[in-house]
Amino acid sequence: MASCIFCEIVANRQPASFVYRDELCAAFMDIQPVTRGHLLVIPNRHAAFLVELDPRVGGHLFAVAQRLAQALRESEVRCEGINLFLADGTVAGQEVFHVHLHVIPRHRGDGFGLRFPPDYGRRPPRHELDAVAESIRAAL
Ligand SMILES: [Zn+2]
Repeated sequence: MASCIFCEIVANRQPASFVYRDELCAAFMDIQPVTRGHLLVIPNRHAAFLVELDPRVGGHLFAVAQRLAQALRESEVRCEGINLFLADGTVAGQEVFHVHLHVIPRHRGDGFGLRFPPDYGRRPPRHELDAVAESIRAAL
């Protein structure tokens, strides 16, 4: 995967400002941070999408993100809260096709936020929730 920028970073062929590395994953500064201190946690082994990621590695990414979140809170970075964000697929906002978990420090007035669809706030009836739950359970 010579064309994958994150594989290039793992292989030390492209620069990155690392904060953590181990045998399964790496974490480094996002070069286009949403807020100061914005980090990415990635698997060392290429996986474009979640479906390709070993769930044990996925769990490890999350565990590392938790440690990083704590480190951010204890660092000099302004951090009053944290968002963990993972975009899986173009429609979800994924731009680099190597799984990455964002660790985004938040503070009051940082300008970042989520945008909800116009019908957000409507509570679907229980039978509708049950029907969706049934279809998801059937796919497990
Ligand atoms: Zn890659």
